[in-house]
Amino acid sequence: MTQRSRFDSGPTHEIAVQLIGAAEQLVARDVLSPSLHGNLSARVPETGHVLLTAHSSLDRVTLRDLALLDLQGRLVEGFLDPATHEIVEMHTAIYRQRPEVGAIIHTHSPHATAFALAGRPIEPCYEALVRVGVTTAVPVAGYAPRGSEASVSNILAQSEKGVWAVLLANHGLLAFGRDLSHALRVTIAVEEAARIVLLAEAIGGARPIPSEMIAQAEARASLFARAGTVSPPRT
Ligand SMILES: [Zn+2]
Repeated sequence: MTQRSRFDSGPTHEIAVQLIGAAEQLVARDVLSPSLHGNLSARVPETGHVLLTAHSSLDRVTLRDLALLDLQGRLVEGFLDPATHEIVEMHTAIYRQRPEVGAIIHTHSPHATAFALAGRPIEPCYEALVRVGVTTAVPVAGYAPRGSEASVSNILAQSEKGVWAVLLANHGLLAFGRDLSHALRVTIAVEEAARIVLLAEAIGGARPIPSEMIAQAEARASLFARAGTVSPPRT
């Protein structure tokens, strides 16, 4: 007999499926470190709960590998492995601080993490960053042991500026989104930008996008997004 997971049905099911899909995308797009370490979470609308991946690896996440938490970080359903238990507050403190954040993704994406280890912010010099809302430098939150009160406090100090991504010094990347799809796009764009900026350093370094053009690039992207997909007129 197959064991039913806690999230096979009900209001959390749709978010659970999205979380699993996002974990698969992170693996498929090759934005993780070789350990496939990471954790991601999303709000379950109208419940005051969030779903979080329960293991520290994002390899083959299933409906049985999720934990339902309240915004104070208390476990409501499911389980948490010790390594994930350590970082619960890194997620829930952000949801308490930023009502507009609907999803959070943490990875050790190698190129972004190189910037985190160097203590160097990633400038918004790559248009793909601007198009996902990263219009200022991705800041570096000071180091403290993962998930500790000091670490979370350093992250919140950067997050309160309204940024969609924060580098965790000596550790990795934390990306936020209005929903999982947005958080995924931010994670991918930051890792892409980090990689390409490092490539550009060999040929003179990345040049900034003029600040007035950043606003124009963002406005143009949202104008076309609102207009939606274009199809030929029906005859
Ligand atoms: Zn980590």
